[in-house]
Amino acid sequence: MSLAAISTAPCARLAPKLGAIATLAALSALVLLTARAANGRTTAPLPQMAPPRSTDRVLVIAPHPDDETLCCGGYLQQAVAAGATVGVVWITAGDSFEIDAIVTERTLRPKASGLEQLGMRRIAEAHAAADRLGVPRAQQILLGFPDRDVHALLLTPSAAPLRSRYTGVSAVPYAEALHPGSPYTGSELRRNLQEVIVRFAPTIVLAAAPQDRHPDHNASGALAVELLRASASKARIYYWIVHAGHEWPAPRGLHRERPLLPPKIARDLSWQRLPLSDAQVAGKLAALNEHHTQLRVMSRFLDAFVRNDEIFAPAP
Ligand SMILES: [Zn+2]
Repeated sequence: MSLAAISTAPCARLAPKLGAIATLAALSALVLLTARAANGRTTAPLPQMAPPRSTDRVLVIAPHPDDETLCCGGYLQQAVAAGATVGVVWITAGDSFEIDAIVTERTLRPKASGLEQLGMRRIAEAHAAADRLGVPRAQQILLGFPDRDVHALLLTPSAAPLRSRYTGVSAVPYAEALHPGSPYTGSELRRNLQEVIVRFAPTIVLAAAPQDRHPDHNASGALAVELLRASASKARIYYWIVHAGHEWPAPRGLHRERPLLPPKIARDLSWQRLPLSDAQVAGKLAALNEHHTQLRVMSRFLDAFVRNDEIFAPAP
């Protein structure tokens, strides 16, 4: 047997096996792709979002305390690191979250005053979270309109103030709000948010997408777009989503090494990803951990937003 024969013989024997392995690998990849397609997830990587710049003025419009961290905790840290000006406005104090009040007050029937106290607690937690993200206190603004009624306020053209089913009040009860005593009407809410937008003069606004299933979220996002366009603002608007159904974000719990995938219900948006450094992921988790009242009742859902990136979609 020649040397050539010795060297080629094993290769000749291996060739069919290698061919079979390659075929199997191709089939496995096809199965994987098909499975992903069935899940409605795209396999193509999302384009990278332009990071914030020093000249940017970034305003997060958060319907509730905790949304600022869930949607944008990483973005805010990057903006601060870049030297940008950052601000957060909370539309409500999250004062209708009965399950939270049930756990906090240890009663099955939380009182209206208990829900108002819950609102004060949640806003204190949100301040602590925003502090960790680097948002100056002067740019942490509470409007204090009624939780779970933002949509109703904006859709009902009633001049009579709405009475919150939860706290029982018809005007902003929080002393630290932008305008304590503002009646709960759609026009007052518009006026309050417009004042923040004019005063802050954002170049970038991060707001809830129309596809977000929580009515306070999609209504506050739509209001932000309406006010910005009415004032001829040149701010770029980026959408985020927090509520997209029980199956998103999957898996639940803390998976800081994974990326966040776009939810099925908003596949049509042009999603972009903002990769986060390990320190920014840790900073986001530290901010989230300030939201004690929320973590007591839904920690696995909240933790699922702490990933190695955040995703945003430019408003069309
Ligand atoms: Zn929310």
